[in-house]
Amino acid sequence: MKIGLGFDVHRLVKGRKLILGGVEIPCQLGLLGHSDADVVLHALADAIAGALGADDIGTIFPNSNPEFKDISSKKILAYYTLLLAERKMKITNLDMVILAERPKLSPFYSTIRKELAHLLSIDTERIGIKAKTAEGLGMIGEEKAIACWVTLLLDSI
Ligand code: MG
Repeated sequence: MKIGLGFDVHRLVKGRKLILGGVEIPCQLGLLGHSDADVVLHALADAIAGALGADDIGTIFPNSNPEFKDISSKKILAYYTLLLAERKMKITNLDMVILAERPKLSPFYSTIRKELAHLLSIDTERIGIKAKTAEGLGMIGEEKAIACWVTLLLDSI
């Protein structure tokens, strides 16, 4: 078994879509980044990379490369799910905390869980999602950013 941990944070700005876990969430603000800035998929991909001892997403998909401008983070995750298959490993379960002052994310848990289950080819029962506010404190609380932590366990196929 192998354990992985991933983290990501992106700045919230006007004029961008808010995409979390591959799902577009209705919001006046969106996350700024070189790709679609999906903090959930970035943290998830890095958690897989960490568990495998593989290069992280910043190394494989550098934001200095125009080829990766505005790409869907599903493509980033797909690189790591392929790597999982090559290494003959599967995700036993994953858990995450999304830190966001708004929007309220609990109405979207089910949709995000289904999308992640689809992208990872695992059952929805293996995916934990929790969103927390920062009680108005700091960059998250001031609605300047959204952050996400993902932890997961891998086992051999
Ligand atoms: Mg990122």
